[in-house]
Amino acid sequence: MLIVPEREIADLMTREAAFAAVEKVFAAMAAGDAYNFPVVREAIGHEDALYGFKGGFDRSGLTLGLKAGGYWPNNLEKRGLINHQSTVFLFDPDTGKARAMVGGNLLTALRTAAASSVSIRHLARDDAKVIGMVGAGHQATFQLRAALEQRDFDKVIGWNLHPEMLPNLEKVAAEAGLPFEAVNLEGMRAADVIISITSSFAPILMAEHVSPGCHIACMGTDTKGKQEVSPALLAKATVFTDEVAQSVSIGEAQHAVAQGLIAEGDITQLGAVINGTHPGRRSADEITLFDGTGVGLQDLAVAAAVVDLAVEKGIAIEVDF
Ligand code: NAD
Repeated sequence: MLIVPEREIADLMTREAAFAAVEKVFAAMAAGDAYNFPVVREAIGHEDALYGFKGGFDRSGLTLGLKAGGYWPNNLEKRGLINHQSTVFLFDPDTGKARAMVGGNLLTALRTAAASSVSIRHLARDDAKVIGMVGAGHQATFQLRAALEQRDFDKVIGWNLHPEMLPNLEKVAAEAGLPFEAVNLEGMRAADVIISITSSFAPILMAEHVSPGCHIACMGTDTKGKQEVSPALLAKATVFTDEVAQSVSIGEAQHAVAQGLIAEGDITQLGAVINGTHPGRRSADEITLFDGTGVGLQDLAVAAAVVDLAVEKGIAIEVDF
């Protein structure tokens, strides 16, 4: 079995490799070649932790496995560890033998940023110039860095409930040589692309905050009850997702579907656009919305890519198992 420790991931994995892995697995999901297993998420009654598994099988890429992990809210304060902890396990689909164990913390941020980037690549207008960020936490910086590579953006605008976090975005914009402006939510009308990545449980971005032709990637809502945008915005937009079953149950679409504003059948897998079986954006005025819920196959895809890179560079630790 091969081990790729968390400490090696930063030097091995690139945004390009994460993008390619996620785009490919989204396409495989839409073609029916890959599927996710039902998600397990449990409050374990110890350290207030939420622990669970996300797994799946990609028959085309021969990737089988799961990501195990979750959220330990006391880690940082008590132990100086980050609160989100995860590990990916890959198995040989021919034999069931464990193939690899891979640190999953940085990979989670990279695969989540790759998902919104894939949506921008395939759904945003080609002439998009202004990118708007709703959220300025840990994931937001990864999201922005990856998104800036998808279009010729000339300005970053941002809103966050906690304005003291906005310098996180300003720093990423500056790295890319772009100006940053803090705006109120009405100011988001200037954006051609918006990414929302917060831990909100109530709508922040309303339909009137979004201009025609905008592409929105809703990335924060990955649990029942969470919400970042108004259901009316989903009713106004053409809605895409990584996986429809997750979108209507734990994704942003859960609220619009529950209110009867859109139906499950109105939501298209992004992979269908990648595969060319759905045209994607149809006009310059259309609002497109990607509901990025985060699927296990994304984790497996980036983990498999990083194992290949680690083997290539002689970094993978081999153990007899
Ligand atoms: P973080 O704690 O670093 O940042 C949280 C962000 O949410 C900050 O911008 C904060 O100001 C904002 N926020 C907190 N409470 C809020 C509220 N009540 N209303 C509005 N904004 C609020 O967290 P993070 O690691 O950046 O994660 C952000 C979100 O992304 C989380 O909800 C997380 O579960 C989700 N996430 C989704 C995926 C996916 O695949 N879709 C993957 C990883 C994380």
